[in-house]
Amino acid sequence: MAAPTEADIIKSLQTIRDPVSGKNIVEAGLIEGLALRGGHVSFAVEVAPERGPASEPLRKACEDAVSRLPGVLSVTAVLTAHRERNARSPRPAARPHAHDHAHSHGPAEPSGAKGVAGVGSIIAVASGKGGVGKSTVAVNLALGLAALGLKTGLLDADIYGPSVPRLLDIKDKPRSDGKKLSPIEKFGLKAMSIGFLVDEDKPMIWRGPMVQSAITQMLGDVEWAPLDVLVVDMPPGTGDAQLTLAQRVPLKGAIIVSTPQDLALIDARKGLAMFRKTEVPVLGIVENMSLFICPNCGHETHIFGHGGARETAARLGVDFLGEIPLVQAIRETSDAGTPIVAQAPNGPEARAFLALAQKVAEKLSARAERSAPKIVIE
Ligand code: ADP
Repeated sequence: MAAPTEADIIKSLQTIRDPVSGKNIVEAGLIEGLALRGGHVSFAVEVAPERGPASEPLRKACEDAVSRLPGVLSVTAVLTAHRERNARSPRPAARPHAHDHAHSHGPAEPSGAKGVAGVGSIIAVASGKGGVGKSTVAVNLALGLAALGLKTGLLDADIYGPSVPRLLDIKDKPRSDGKKLSPIEKFGLKAMSIGFLVDEDKPMIWRGPMVQSAITQMLGDVEWAPLDVLVVDMPPGTGDAQLTLAQRVPLKGAIIVSTPQDLALIDARKGLAMFRKTEVPVLGIVENMSLFICPNCGHETHIFGHGGARETAARLGVDFLGEIPLVQAIRETSDAGTPIVAQAPNGPEARAFLALAQKVAEKLSARAERSAPKIVIE
């Protein structure tokens, strides 16, 4: 059977009425990011935030209408809520209004985005490109922060390739009370990932605005509180989607993961430039896959060279947060869904992550002290 065309899908969606404007949903501008691959269809139904969860029947109606078309194999309709409609492209972050601070903990966020109630600090783990171990560092850093006694959450914002379900071996779906989703708790962490919500065999073709809305939803519509720190595993790269994300998420700081190779470092520099542009403080650079320790003889080799990240950090005026060795056990424990800090917290690899967590925790508390409101007596 022939796959449906975009026009067929639009036509079927035009039969659905937007209850707010009274227009059909295509005319009302609610359909975003329509993507077709063979008979697999995905799109977002974009509504104003206040209509959020109440629009679920509308999303379902869209999905049903498209499913009925001949040749359609699967339909993924995602409900997204934009803070401001028509915010299609990255732009300078809007400063929050004074009353917005009622919801935020601590001082005004550097990115200009609103804080999340009950969540102390939100930090991003980013990389200039994929495959450098960003997710591995994010999950082990989060476990390290939890081991230090901090209430910690992990938000997998790597919507293009969510890895937290695999890294923490989570197969359950988060429960919803109709208003908020409960994060899934594992190894003392509260975790949320788009991968928990979408079937892996369904195509996920995301467009920039959909990515940002989904992340905004995963921040605001998830029962995170109370948390001391929320670690966000960012999508790799420094494109528009990442830039907008850095502006939208109320980040206290960012950590950039790089391998020692020059190429990765060039990308790390781009990552740094991106956060500087958005006024998000870079807490430092971590060098991953730094040193290879032979599992048989214990011999140490700097396969990819050494010290590149430390030098780059010094040259760029940011802190060097440490080195994580290239060790088979790190990959194997990740693949098995029990990351090294959970599996062998006293081993040398876990200690490297715990040292990183310690540095990050110190930096966050130093920042909090520096920016605490000062009482001036005149
Ligand atoms: P990214 O999030 O940057 O795409 P991942 O965290 O998914 O990267 O890591 C890519 C691959 O490298 C994974 O198979 C992971 O297990 C492995 N890996 C990451 N860091 C290390 C390390 N320090 N030692 C061994 N393998 C690692």
